[in-house]
Amino acid sequence: MIANSFFPWQIEIANKYLKNPDKIHHAIILYGLKGIGKFEFSTAFAASFLCENRDSKFACKKCISCNLIEKNNHPDFKLLIPNSIADEKKISISFDDKKNTSYASNEIRINQIRDIIPWINVKSYRNNKKIVIIYKADNLNTISSNALLKMLEEPSDDIFFLIVSDCLDKLLPTIVSRCQILHLPIPDYQTSLKWLKNNNVDNYDNWLSFSSNAPIDAFRYSMYRKNPCPSWIYDFLQLLSNNSDIHVFSLLDSYPDDILINELIDIFQKLFFDLVLISYKITPKYFIDMKKILNKLSTRSTNDVLINNFIWLNRKKKLSDQQVNKKIFLNSILNKVITSFK
Ligand SMILES: [Zn+2]
Repeated sequence: MIANSFFPWQIEIANKYLKNPDKIHHAIILYGLKGIGKFEFSTAFAASFLCENRDSKFACKKCISCNLIEKNNHPDFKLLIPNSIADEKKISISFDDKKNTSYASNEIRINQIRDIIPWINVKSYRNNKKIVIIYKADNLNTISSNALLKMLEEPSDDIFFLIVSDCLDKLLPTIVSRCQILHLPIPDYQTSLKWLKNNNVDNYDNWLSFSSNAPIDAFRYSMYRKNPCPSWIYDFLQLLSNNSDIHVFSLLDSYPDDILINELIDIFQKLFFDLVLISYKITPKYFIDMKKILNKLSTRSTNDVLINNFIWLNRKKKLSDQQVNKKIFLNSILNKVITSFK
């Protein structure tokens, strides 16, 4: 199902744009930190924009248009999304989008862009306007980016593009220059806390800190583990903080399948960052529930080592997207972490 409501922290900015629908630019880039609800903003925006109830500024959720968009079945609406993200968000995509792909792709493929060209060139079915969401545009490869650019250069009168991105730097400058930029800010801390609490997230402040104050990420993480630091990593840190003998090979044998390597690297980077803060007597930013173990670890390393290894992990993160032997890769990461502490 496609979301058609804005989150509380999005209402004001949505209102600003939707109160004058006739003045909306034909191509908008919606960008902001990962995990703050940009996807839901874009679909609620499209639903509101196509809603046929004239008395309603936002999607009325009652008219035919609102019903169709909710089912991702609106003839004037297209959602271009990598199929791995569609699976994650449980969104059914059309048969055309699925064909030729037997794997969960992280990219928006050129076929997805090409498939909408005939649709762009026909008149809208219902209300003289059509809208296409491209999520996430950061995942457009060069060929797809150029195909999109061509569409933006020759817009038809009734078409609107909503291009969603975590990071403007990843988009072609020629695409950026043809669009209006809409920045979605990080919601304020109290608003996010209240929202997480209302959605029954336990220890919501721990999750919010861990997620850099991005409430949707905080919610998502809290759904699949008990604490921000996975127990396998926590146990490993306990061993490190107690200066115990660590046998990397036996650790590797117990490595759980549900921690992706990218996530493991991300967690260690956050830990190193917190440890540097602690050395300056500043409260940790990410793991606010682990002050005791972090204090203990901080006495066993230096800022230089932590910062250098943080940078080393960054390089590793880039490699982790490529085909690597998981065990060898993990082995090198764990050894690097172990040697960060004396
Ligand atoms: Zn409606």
